Amino acid sequence: MIRSSATVVALAAGRSRRLAPITTLASGLELGLTIHVLEGDRPGPTVGVSAMVHGDELDGLLIARELVTTLEPAELAGSVWVLAVANPLALEGVSRNTPVDMLDMNRLFPGSPHGWLSEQQAHVISHEFIDHLDVLIDIHCGGTFPWVDYCYVVNDEGLSRAFLPELLYQPADPYPGTTATYAQQRGVRCTVVEIGGGYHDQPVHVVNGVRGVLNQLRYVGVLEGGVERRAGQRLMRDLRVMRPRHGGICVPKATLAPGQVVPGGTELADIVSPYSFEVLETMVAPFEESIVVLCRNFVTRIHPGDYGFMIGDGATASRYED
Ligand SMILES: [Zn+2]
Repeated sequence: MIRSSATVVALAAGRSRRLAPITTLASGLELGLTIHVLEGDRPGPTVGVSAMVHGDELDGLLIARELVTTLEPAELAGSVWVLAVANPLALEGVSRNTPVDMLDMNRLFPGSPHGWLSEQQAHVISHEFIDHLDVLIDIHCGGTFPWVDYCYVVNDEGLSRAFLPELLYQPADPYPGTTATYAQQRGVRCTVVEIGGGYHDQPVHVVNGVRGVLNQLRYVGVLEGGVERRAGQRLMRDLRVMRPRHGGICVPKATLAPGQVVPGGTELADIVSPYSFEVLETMVAPFEESIVVLCRNFVTRIHPGDYGFMIGDGATASRYED
């Protein structure tokens, strides 16, 4: 039995909320996490769905809301735990990083009870959420400005494919200290999905996101029914995060969408000085076959080193045969 300091609030049959305390803020307000628990009558795995590890990734919260309000506990074999807001202060501040310490919580797992607020929060997520799971689906998005559509392959390729993305990505060197890093260490089957962002076509991303998670729940046996497949899925092994050297105004030169392929040398965007209006640099597709993974479709502010675009290398990507 895993030790827990969460308070459990019973709601309707098969529905409860776990309230896990994190800390007391400088203002005296109590900070904690809310985990929605849907429990089936039949045995089965415990699947966790998390969102808003980064506070400017609202589409994940919208997908989580749909799941919590539409899933019927009686239809489940096993349980679904939904942590819709993993980083409450970052949600409040519409910020990728936690405003109090400005750290990226998703590089700090499993966290520490004696560290910065983000580390304390990661510690509570690790032990009050991930430790209880057999399967973790961590939902991310492009953030305030860019949008994305792909899935990481972590330790269960079928689980990632079952989200039904066209693009999948298996990095040779994954970021350390993520939810997925910790889940893997714990032997939890895991995927990280990246969907939506940039306030772009939110209803479409929510529909696709919910459809993907429901299919993953069928894949792991929590929901009954056949697992849907998507033909033509591509697995990328090399992906360039294109970070501009200069900040300024990012002016796209083409309207792009994730999954689109453009030839190397295609101009993606100009970074323009807001004062002199000169073009400080032009971002250019780097690979002969450049697969668009993350893009910006509007004129946006961009920081030096920011996520400008993400481009996959078609030369090292492969298509699934089945
Ligand atoms: Zn994220």
